[in-house]
Amino acid sequence: MPQAPNLRAALRVAPGTRVNLAKVDPGDTHGIDKVGGGALVDGLLDRLTGLQERLWAEQERSVLVVLQGIDAAGKDGTIRKVMTAFNPQGCPVSSFKVPSSEELAHDYLWRIHKRVPGKGEIGIFNRSHYEDVLVVRVHDLVPKNAWRARYDQIVAFEDHLTANGTTVVKFFLYIDKDEQRERFQARYDDPTKHWKFALGDLEERKRWNDYIAAYEDALSKTSTKSAPWYVIPANHKWFRNVAVASILEATLDELDPTYPPGEDLPENLVID
Ligand code: AMP
Ligand code: MG
Repeated sequence: MPQAPNLRAALRVAPGTRVNLAKVDPGDTHGIDKVGGGALVDGLLDRLTGLQERLWAEQERSVLVVLQGIDAAGKDGTIRKVMTAFNPQGCPVSSFKVPSSEELAHDYLWRIHKRVPGKGEIGIFNRSHYEDVLVVRVHDLVPKNAWRARYDQIVAFEDHLTANGTTVVKFFLYIDKDEQRERFQARYDDPTKHWKFALGDLEERKRWNDYIAAYEDALSKTSTKSAPWYVIPANHKWFRNVAVASILEATLDELDPTYPPGEDLPENLVID
């Protein structure tokens, strides 16, 4: 099987560093080709299956996977592909949309905390609390001093989760504006994809630069040792899948979940 380069090290946002997305190539494939990438992903998903089973059996710790990206960056496609490795019973997916009035009546982490995975689970967030420093910032949905205070609050929240047995891993799926144009056009041209396309998406597209600036700030201010961000070049869907699967596999492998011993069983038991 082809060897993956160390994507976990290559794509991680080192804590305390400033992210400049103009320096990242969204079409990068880190020396892997599509055929090799397909083989890599199959092997990684196989190993993820075993790791999830051990985490589930252990029932001690959990993993929270945060997926963020501009519209059409591939959040849904990533979930569809990577989830095939997992037993759905231990893998809750939460999608965060425009907050309801009840959610808006609470602090922005209220709805998030309720969805954090429990012991044994790998929880996937399709969008997350980061929307509260992204769309909320771009559209001035709260005053500037309110969203500015949130970076530290988010770091404190994730530190709290980590200290309580939840490993947090965060992926920013990075496509460029031209790739988004192609994906939007494909959605428009195919009636079976219209449900994924709204004219409002084009309004957001006009604010591309504002979103990039908001992402650069979020990535720079909230990548920590225990809850790192990874910037995933996502123009090529197959590479995006290799990268996410590979980083997840490395993260779970490091946790090294173990099967619990079970209760003390008598020797030579024969079930009749
Ligand atoms: P989608 O992912 O296409 O289903 O769209 C979900 C929409 O909900 C996106 O336009 C997000 O920007 C929006 N959204 C998610 N979280 C928030 C939030 N906290 N405040 C405002 N809008 C949000
Ligand atoms: Mg959408």
